This record gives sequence, C-alpha cells and structure tokens, in this order.
Amino acid sequence: MAYADWLAEYDRSYEDPPSTNIAECPDCGARELRLAFVQSTGDLEKGVPQFWCGSCLTGIFFCRVTIPENATVVSGAEIPDFRIISPD
Ligand SMILES: [Zn+2]
Repeated sequence: MAYADWLAEYDRSYEDPPSTNIAECPDCGARELRLAFVQSTGDLEKGVPQFWCGSCLTGIFFCRVTIPENATVVSGAEIPDFRIISPD
C-alpha cells in the first residue's frame, strides 16, 4: 500500500479518466478504482480530485486541480467516506 503506487495510478487515471478502473487497487487488488472531481464553485474548470477504491474504500488526498477531459464530475455528497493514505 505504498503511497507512490497510489500516486502512479492517479497520474495514469488523470491522463485518461475513462481507464481508471482497468488497473488494480494498490491495496486490495480489486479493479474498483474510482476517480471523480468535486467541482469548485465559481471556477467550473477546477475541482478537487477524489481517488479511491470502491472495494476496500482506501484512497489518497489532493488539492484542487484543473479537471481533465472525460472526467467524472460530482458533488461532494456522492463521494463515500474512504480511508486516506498518507505519503510515506
Ligand atoms: Zn482496494
């Protein structure tokens, strides 16, 4: 469950959001990774990425970024409560 593994999966998913769930979760191995962006009010091109595994409910935390094309954009209420992994 190395933070670096999570970061690598996030980078890949950010480049190609529709491919997010083809990779295995760094923690439990399930192909249940999810990437969604909680849109900022006032600046609709930006959002806070939420990246987690739908199986073991683990993920990592990010600050606001520009939302990539083909990304899933949600309201915060649609994000489950997941366990945040800290940098090593
Ligand atoms: Zn998992």
